[in-house]
Amino acid sequence: MKKKYNFSGGVKCLPINQDTNKYIINYVPYPTKFFIYVKYNTLKKNMLRVKINQKVLCGEPLTFGDSSSVPIHSPTSGLIENVEFYSKHVDLNQENIKITIISDHLEQWIRLKKINNYKLYSPKSLIKIIYQLGIVGLGGAQFSSAKKLILSINKVHTLIINAVESDPYITADYSLMHNYFNEIFIGCEIISWISKVEKILIVIQEDKIELISKIQLLIENKKLFKICILKKKYPGGSSKIIIKSLTGKEIPNGKHAIDIGYLIFNISTVYAIKRAVINGEPLIHRIISLYDYQNNLSKNFLIRIGTPINFFLNYLKIDNNLNYKIYLGGMFMKDLLTNLNYSISKDMNSILIKKYKKKNKKLINYSCINCGYCVQVCPINLLPQKLYLYSKNNNHKDAKKSYIMDCIECRICEKVCPSNINLVKYFKNEKKQQNKIKIEINQKKIFFDLFQLREKRILSQKENIYKNKNYFNHLSLIESNILEKLSTKKLISNKEIEKNIRKEILRSSIKRVKLKNKIL
Ligand code: SF4
Ligand code: SF4
Repeated sequence: MKKKYNFSGGVKCLPINQDTNKYIINYVPYPTKFFIYVKYNTLKKNMLRVKINQKVLCGEPLTFGDSSSVPIHSPTSGLIENVEFYSKHVDLNQENIKITIISDHLEQWIRLKKINNYKLYSPKSLIKIIYQLGIVGLGGAQFSSAKKLILSINKVHTLIINAVESDPYITADYSLMHNYFNEIFIGCEIISWISKVEKILIVIQEDKIELISKIQLLIENKKLFKICILKKKYPGGSSKIIIKSLTGKEIPNGKHAIDIGYLIFNISTVYAIKRAVINGEPLIHRIISLYDYQNNLSKNFLIRIGTPINFFLNYLKIDNNLNYKIYLGGMFMKDLLTNLNYSISKDMNSILIKKYKKKNKKLINYSCINCGYCVQVCPINLLPQKLYLYSKNNNHKDAKKSYIMDCIECRICEKVCPSNINLVKYFKNEKKQQNKIKIEINQKKIFFDLFQLREKRILSQKENIYKNKNYFNHLSLIESNILEKLSTKKLISNKEIEKNIRKEILRSSIKRVKLKNKIL
């Protein structure tokens, strides 16, 4: 009997009736128009590689990447119809760039650079490939996988493969594992070769019996690999929870798993890394679980990124009129979709369809009765009722002290709350405030440094003037009270001293510009 890992808190989810074909990957035809949304704060205008009316090939990069974002690739061959700025989607406060591509349905691809033996390449060149082909964390965070790998070199000893999908309606990762586990296995080996780990732990939930035996068979003679079985509870897929359950260690506040020696990748990301390195494929599609409440059906579809959700629903003959509500996400963590022209993106893994019901009575939010139910279920061992009070009363200091930034927004505290308080809404707002405060503190620090540098610079200029009794710029001299002292004396010309002063001023100006860029 294999050991089962567990974590405190969480809720058990009852198994739901599902289609027996839930692990089959279904295919969706390509739409005529693709919409690619890019967060505006991660992409500046000069990072666009395409313009309106330009022809593109499938897999061609549409944007340049930078230190915080990876390039985004065209999901089809066709023509760039439009590039709009400031379009908005789910989060109305989030500004985006929307690239519209009209497909020519010819499927003309860029030349893909395939690699047979990745071990002939250095880790750095493999990381470069992973970056150039746009691979990001597909578990939701969308963090650049290349950046994660660079940070992990010489810092981690264990690779954790997150194969936990605890939301009962989402089966996208499991269908991927059922169909492509051999490729995922190669992906694990590529990552371990890059980051030189000593162990690879594949974490999966206890109810996936068929998959567990399949993995066990595959890793039988592989010393590096180990399978870890986690109790079936929600939420089990968070990296914080997985590391705590497996090792008993907590990721310190403000740190990452890498800082304590663990590199953690979602199973879909591992698959995307394999496809990028071995097949040379950029990330242009992903598997989406679709759960239909009315028919109690969960199906998985391989869809190209940029496919409008409206097109997808029309293809499935789902009447997307007012009778339905479409959500992105699972049973616990979901967002109502307000614009059906929004398209499939890299961070999406499920769509939920619910029949619209008129509420007979309004759900009333009562005040907190201190029952403590929320405390019992919190998997991060936080005190949600306290966090609620601090957030509600804008008590930022105590909210920070109570580790609000560690909240993973899993929403189970909200689900069990008998007073129907929208706890996570308060936590999300408070986290935004905390981030603002952090940015302000950093800016203040940088401005203070700038001020000190300026003071130093002025002082050194004054010293130079005083020492040499010479200066080339009268305007700057006006700032200096030494001018008065010198004005009566005849200035002696000395080219060498002037040159040195100019150099000094240039050096400090460059330093100032660099600091300012940091702020912006
Ligand atoms: S949403 Fe945050 S506070 Fe509530 S249970 Fe989850 S981790 Fe705990
Ligand atoms: S579950 Fe709701 S009512 Fe009970 S302590 Fe938590 S916030 Fe208060």
